[in-house]
Amino acid sequence: MSEEPITQSSLEEIASWLRAAGRVVALTGAGVSTESGIPDFRGPQGVWTKNPRAERLSSLQHYLADKELRIEAWRARLAHPAWAATPNAGHRALAELERKGKLTTLVTQNIDGLHQLAGTSAGAIIEIHGTMREVVCMDCGERADMNRALDRVRSGEEDPDCRTCGGILKSATISFGQSLIAEDLERARIAAESCDVFIAAGTSLTVYPVAHLPNAALSAGARLVILNNEPTPYDRLADAVVNEPLAKVLPRLAALA
Ligand SMILES: [Zn+2]
Repeated sequence: MSEEPITQSSLEEIASWLRAAGRVVALTGAGVSTESGIPDFRGPQGVWTKNPRAERLSSLQHYLADKELRIEAWRARLAHPAWAATPNAGHRALAELERKGKLTTLVTQNIDGLHQLAGTSAGAIIEIHGTMREVVCMDCGERADMNRALDRVRSGEEDPDCRTCGGILKSATISFGQSLIAEDLERARIAAESCDVFIAAGTSLTVYPVAHLPNAALSAGARLVILNNEPTPYDRLADAVVNEPLAKVLPRLAALA
């Protein structure tokens, strides 16, 4: 792992690319939210990696088949750290880059909704793994506010069902065994292919098909900037790699851009 210290000159160089860019696209992963107190579920030290039972909670097949598992999943949703979390300086810096007219699309692997709470507009964001702030009925497809379903759990319903059709409700996230939304993926690909600078922040770039996006951007001639606390498979192809805390790096870049 490279431990090159962050230098003002390297940040200044990245910022100069941002200033010259017409369109900047960012891809964010768990690393952007860890400083808001939300653990990385899939990483080497992740909750799921250390507890296979927790991963079962996120398998669509098991979820649909096993009521006990759904009861456990609702308890886990109630206790999720995201409900008490607030956006950090990294989230706010990405919102600032949009306000400055630089960031046109923010693709996030996170389901916590913190980018929107920080001020990123709904039209600019693609939540490629869905959102935990809504529920979806697995039978009729109706979506509703997660808070209302959680209120039902708090008042004693162990596995609240769809109010419209009685079907199984699940958080509107992409579970294991579920495909990504094709239109979201297509929008993300088009954004990557039409940007001047692609920033990958807090993502290990190992979860496909999202991990193809930097390649799409590079092939179309964009510069690739990687901000992450550990190496990624794309580091050798990147124009700049910064291994420093995102809540420090992103605000400095947003201020200089
Ligand atoms: Zn329904």
